[in-house]
Amino acid sequence: MSLRLYDTAARAVRDFTPREPGRAGIYLCGATVQSSPHIGHLRSGVNFDIAARWLEQAGYAVTFCRNVTDIDDKIIHTAQHEGVPWWVVAQRNERAFSWAYDVVGCRPPTVEPRATGHVPEMIVLMRRLIDAGHAYSTEGGVYFDVGSFPAYGALSGQRPDAMLTSEKAVDGKRNPLDFALWKAAKPGEPAWDTPWGAGRPGWHLECSAMAGKYLGPAFDIHGGGIDLIFPHHENEVAQSQAAGDGFAGYWLHHAMVTSAGEKMSKSTGNSMLVTDVVERVRPVELRYYLGASHYRSTIEFSEAALQDAASAYRRIEGFVQRAAELVAEVPGELPSHFAGAMDDDLGVAGALAVVHTAVRDGNTALGASDKETAAQCLGQVRAMLGVLGLDPLAAPWATARSGGGDLRPTVDRLVAVALGQREAARVRRDFAAADEIRAELAAAGIAISDTAAGPRWSIG
Ligand SMILES: [Zn+2]
Repeated sequence: MSLRLYDTAARAVRDFTPREPGRAGIYLCGATVQSSPHIGHLRSGVNFDIAARWLEQAGYAVTFCRNVTDIDDKIIHTAQHEGVPWWVVAQRNERAFSWAYDVVGCRPPTVEPRATGHVPEMIVLMRRLIDAGHAYSTEGGVYFDVGSFPAYGALSGQRPDAMLTSEKAVDGKRNPLDFALWKAAKPGEPAWDTPWGAGRPGWHLECSAMAGKYLGPAFDIHGGGIDLIFPHHENEVAQSQAAGDGFAGYWLHHAMVTSAGEKMSKSTGNSMLVTDVVERVRPVELRYYLGASHYRSTIEFSEAALQDAASAYRRIEGFVQRAAELVAEVPGELPSHFAGAMDDDLGVAGALAVVHTAVRDGNTALGASDKETAAQCLGQVRAMLGVLGLDPLAAPWATARSGGGDLRPTVDRLVAVALGQREAARVRRDFAAADEIRAELAAAGIAISDTAAGPRWSIG
């Protein structure tokens, strides 16, 4: 079976056929850097990080473009309120987003373009649309003429005459549904020059311009949250296709993280900020939580579910660490059920069920001292976790284990020396000395547990 994806535009699961054999281009609408990220923002990063990893696993060379929208009304408003330039606010929040993606193990995209760095590309696209009769310039800015594009509404499944618009009425705008490609400059706001006057980019235009620059006029997958289907993605596809570009072959939309049934936002409180959540669970556990549900299923946030996810991950991690100490691992292949789940519209929930089954089998084998089976399970589990970015023995998690950081191998050697002394004391039946060594280790914060396979230590 090969990869199948749910395409919003087709409202159906379709076989994934890339435009070019062996290559896959993905454009993901990234952060509008207005504020610090909450876990709702991070879901998008995790879902598409897993999608890109699975495409690579399937042999595709992936070009992954995730933009940064670094200018918008709220950024300007916050900057004015703080008495600083707009880019101070944008950069501060962009760094917070980069940190958050990084902390949960999202690999950096191939390219991460900022909107304000692509004004020349936007001017070219506006020129093409105006020349083709799909856009016009007014005193309020440059507008897309929705009436000139009969396919408008196809992506979101709406008829233009039934649509409500959030676009404000502006002098010179011909149709309420027409949307701004370019917003004319207002006093005190940042502005860039264009042939139609100074102003700043409209949000939709940015994405069409950047997708075209980095992925070409037609590319494979366009992603984002379901809250972006209308108007943002409807407007993107209108702009690009009216200009003659093929644009996206597949539209993938992930569901929201909700809190008490509502889309997570700044107003739902600081407890959902990434900086706060990674104090309550480890970052790898947050990644597990955000990635474990199918990307098209809503995650209704609860602290209990977050902690359950953390426990589920620790069960996996516990097996991997124990098995890695006891058996010589054999390189594992991906079980066919795992690959089947991932190929079925990136079914991570089903794929994780295969992981947990292998963990159970592995633990049973360890209990029965069946090292061969345990080694096979370990290899399979690590192969599967690698695809999901959750392998506790691989980067970035391996060095951060147990709070020991890079010092763990050093501590390991030192503890081994102390345990050797303790064992020697026991052999000569000097139990007082053996107990003293154990007490000294405990005083240093190192807990020793004696297992059938010998003593193990942890910091705790
Ligand atoms: Zn976008």
